[in-house]
Amino acid sequence: MSESLTTVAYLGATILFILSLGGLSNPESSRRGNLYGMVGMAIAVLATIFGPHVTMAGIPWIVGAMVVGGSVGLYAARTVQMTQMPELVALMHSLVGLAAMLVGFANYIDPAASAHNTGADKAIHEIEIYVGILIGAVTFSGSIIAFGKLSARIGGKPVLLPGRHLLNLAGLLVVIWFGREFIHAASVQAGMTPLVVMTVIALLFGIHMVMAIGGADMPVVVSMLNSYSGWAAAATGFMLSNDLLIVTGALVGSSGAILSYIMCRAMNRNFISVIAGGFGTGGGTAAVKKEGEPAGEVTAISAAETAELLREAKNVIIVPGYGMAVAQAQHTVFEITKHLREKGVNVRFGIHPVAGRMPGHMNVLLAEAKVPYDIVMEMDEINADFPDTDVAMVIGANDIVNPAAQEDPTSPIAGMPVLEVWKGKTSIVMKRSMASGYAGVDNPLFYKDNNRMLFGDAKKMLDEVLVALKS
Ligand code: NDP
Repeated sequence: MSESLTTVAYLGATILFILSLGGLSNPESSRRGNLYGMVGMAIAVLATIFGPHVTMAGIPWIVGAMVVGGSVGLYAARTVQMTQMPELVALMHSLVGLAAMLVGFANYIDPAASAHNTGADKAIHEIEIYVGILIGAVTFSGSIIAFGKLSARIGGKPVLLPGRHLLNLAGLLVVIWFGREFIHAASVQAGMTPLVVMTVIALLFGIHMVMAIGGADMPVVVSMLNSYSGWAAAATGFMLSNDLLIVTGALVGSSGAILSYIMCRAMNRNFISVIAGGFGTGGGTAAVKKEGEPAGEVTAISAAETAELLREAKNVIIVPGYGMAVAQAQHTVFEITKHLREKGVNVRFGIHPVAGRMPGHMNVLLAEAKVPYDIVMEMDEINADFPDTDVAMVIGANDIVNPAAQEDPTSPIAGMPVLEVWKGKTSIVMKRSMASGYAGVDNPLFYKDNNRMLFGDAKKMLDEVLVALKS
């Protein structure tokens, strides 16, 4: 394939990637968006393999690598549970970082890659390598730690080293100093030492940065690492002089950055202070009652009583959270919704931007269960309607309905916008125990007079509610 044909194919792939991102911004067009992305990626891979930079001798290697990588990817995608998706995404980001690092080192060692470079060209190429490996290493180690935290292999509690900002600053200065040494190195051998030192510092920085971020800020970290992986890919594109990789990396990098900003706004967090770390406490601990908390007892309710309340209601708002995903209760939720709507009850869904464990988690599950899009509302659209709601039904959600965010300025989640379910006539919280959510914060909602607790696995209890409703 000639150079110009490859360029045209790359241009086509770029347009498809942009259309893909556009499609993914709305649940109704998201399938189409995915399809654009798949076709674009197929064109990109074929144009690269048959492009002018790959010789016939290299093709068996590429095909072999694709078969191995493709099989692992296919196996992972088929076996992963929906609730493990964020972990898988974090792991994939780490691979992008690792690839950027390896390409950087290979590019530096390969005499053919830099043979034609002299003077300013050589310096620019070396800066590309240095920065590419730097971003790749931070992405790699940061994503591995994020994977550990999201899969609960590492605790959610922020690990704060004394003088951590100074430590980071010192690391940055050392990296800049060694960058200078690297560019002025007389030979590849001499340049290797600064490159390796910088890589080690960048790896440690990635670990340190994500370890310092607490449970409740993880959504921002996930999207931030998404952005980093894009910049790592763009840096690889510069190293390999591959325009498509530069453009695609920049698309992923900037959309990840925009998503991080949106997540920060949704959680009322300042992006810089999230990255600086230290917010949030340990996750998954049993809720402990502290002084000054709404005294008390919680009122349990049965599935039959829940059905009775729903049957008598005119307005119902369902707030799904991570527990609905764990229990895979979305199909029963839809059955109940359908039944109530047929009886004339106004049922709507309130979706918090960080509900579940990844952006759009709840939307994906509800779309899978065929819940109509027009009754699925965002938090800002529905929050004012709770006072006119008879039953606010919380299905496996916790942090996103925690009134402490508004009522307790000392709470780790103070200031985070939440769905105000307690303003409804009755709220019903479905969960298995009194354990806290991802942020590890106790929830005063459970003790409110108008709140009822329906204890048990969400799927099992909703099945019982459905039977009671139909009887
Ligand atoms: P939470 O983690 O706050 O709460 C989920 C609740 O579901 C738990 O309290 C748990 O209680 C309950 N639960 C678990 N399994 C079941 C089950 N089988 N049946 C019924 N209930 C169950 O989830 P939210 O969705 O309210 O909030 C999301 C949290 O995750 C936020 O803190 C957010 O910052 C964080 N996060 C979000 C990300 C995103 O991008 N959306 C990414 C990373 C983190 P019990 O054990 O008692 O059943």
